Amino acid sequence: MSIVDIKIPDIGGSDDVKVAEIYVKVGDKISVDDNVLMLETEKATMEIPADVAGVVEKILVKVGSKVTVGDTILKIAAVNPVNKEDSPDKTTTLANNVSGELEFDCDVLVIGAGPGGYTAAFRASDLRQKVILIEKHANLGGVCLNVGCIPSKALLHVAKVINEAKAMEKHGVSFGKMKLDIEQIREYKAGIVSKLTGGLRGLAKQRNVEVVFGGAKFVSSNQVVVTGENDKRTIRFKNVIIATGSSSFQLPGVPYEDPRVIDSTGALDLQDIPRNLLIIGGGIIGLEMAEVYSTFGSKVTVVELGDSIIPGADKDLVKVLENRIKKTLHAIKTNTMCTKFESKANGIYVNLKKADTEDTHLFDKVLVCVGRRPNGKEIEADKAGVYVDERGFIPVDKQCRTNVKNIYAIGDVVGQPMLAHKATHEGKVAAENCAGLNTYFDARTIPNVAYTDPEIAWMGVTENEAKEKGFAIEVGKFPWLASGRALANGRDDGFTKIIVDKNSKKIIGAGIVGVNAGELLAETVLALEMGCDVHDVALTIHAHPTLSETIGFACEIIDGSITDIYVPR
Ligand code: FAD
Repeated sequence: MSIVDIKIPDIGGSDDVKVAEIYVKVGDKISVDDNVLMLETEKATMEIPADVAGVVEKILVKVGSKVTVGDTILKIAAVNPVNKEDSPDKTTTLANNVSGELEFDCDVLVIGAGPGGYTAAFRASDLRQKVILIEKHANLGGVCLNVGCIPSKALLHVAKVINEAKAMEKHGVSFGKMKLDIEQIREYKAGIVSKLTGGLRGLAKQRNVEVVFGGAKFVSSNQVVVTGENDKRTIRFKNVIIATGSSSFQLPGVPYEDPRVIDSTGALDLQDIPRNLLIIGGGIIGLEMAEVYSTFGSKVTVVELGDSIIPGADKDLVKVLENRIKKTLHAIKTNTMCTKFESKANGIYVNLKKADTEDTHLFDKVLVCVGRRPNGKEIEADKAGVYVDERGFIPVDKQCRTNVKNIYAIGDVVGQPMLAHKATHEGKVAAENCAGLNTYFDARTIPNVAYTDPEIAWMGVTENEAKEKGFAIEVGKFPWLASGRALANGRDDGFTKIIVDKNSKKIIGAGIVGVNAGELLAETVLALEMGCDVHDVALTIHAHPTLSETIGFACEIIDGSITDIYVPR
């Protein structure tokens, strides 16, 4: 827990002003802007508000004490703003513990140039704020553009083309034996990444967003120090947006010093195609990498501690994916734990334990994909009084504000789901609040997509969640076996599921499994945001033959108007 000073702000040049009343006592919880004491001059009284939310640790003045600008009056222990009944909800003043001559000044400082950070910087600049964007890596774009969403999709695209070409063999079209040029595939991926990250530099320039390369650390609630390759700079800001993202979680006991142990960044680097690859973690990233490496020729084993791959998605959706990858992967081992690792010359020996059975297996490479940890602890946020929880998350309220009035946080560093599209939307909310607009993050749902083959996409309430929470729902499920387009594509392994509230028939959730499920999901997200009921979508004309028709058909099933399949009533 960090302790922050509350000091006497500029009170119009008066020195030695008397403390007339103290409104708080040690142990009180206070919010940003709560008045903490009253000062009295000969002419007037004035109340002093807190610029930090927290618990009063110490009171350094008494009624009758004389104070002057800069004097510390209270010491506050920072608290999580989202646990407080009265979350801080107002915008900006300049915090008052600035000292010394500073090189830079800006209205909005953004730390981290991932999708959250660059979006926040660009939006703030468009709202006429003077913006500085700090990034510790050589390229803008963060995890998403450099070592996440984009390079993984580039490799998945290559895998998809290979698999589609192979699938045509039994329909009379063959291209001969697959030949992989790893170097060229890497160049293809790198070209896409550099096009996008270079584009960001151009966008920053067009908007006069100053980009500073280096690692930022807080000095106070309105100053950071940025350490670059050759210099150190102090930057002073009115508001700051922390967008420092997340890093791969490291499992204890794994020999990371062995270069044959990699994380998702190492996997996307595509140094080689191991004969025998172990992937630890059956979540979205692990399974996307399994798709790439198995298509490129690796014998892939996926180990998952839980009882299902892609936890979070409904089991019926996951089953369709499982049925397909069971044929392409060497093994998928659920309820299984890696208990021991041993690096030897011929590979890495790993003990896999399921219930009471434990066996040792040999792998050429081990890819660890067991989740990500937030980068909240690496910026000395305590010096600014920002509450960071024990895992490294920085909790924020619905305006993306931390417990400190002029400090916002967005993206992976504030919590789940760790997704780029959540980060960008939060970035806009934070930027707009910095610019004095009163904006809230109030999305009704954040869509999820696993870009596996087939893709799994879901949004809103899942069937599992509805059952757990006792919601009265109705479900319409349209099998792609009955979709002309899915059959024509040679991929009828899929279905589209719409979940509605039983009484109002409003769409509250959707799950799609099949080729392009991620693209199809967008219509259902819009339907939920717009408060559509099932008739609205059933009566919307979907072009034929498209996979999007399956969304209309699933709604027609609930609506009772379906003719493309027979549903006994
Ligand atoms: P990040 O993208 O992590 O960016 C944070 C930036 O801050 C980094 O550039 C970092 O260098 C910088 N930084 C950190 N500390 C400092 C400091 N002290 N000073 C200066 N700079 C600092 N999400 C999706 O929505 N769809 C996908 O398909 C998808 N695929 C993924 C695939 C992989 C393999 C991985 C690893 C992730 C994937 N994600 C995906 C998740 C997505 O990448 C993240 O949710 C997203 O990048 C988070 O954005 P962010 O802005 O919060 O942080």
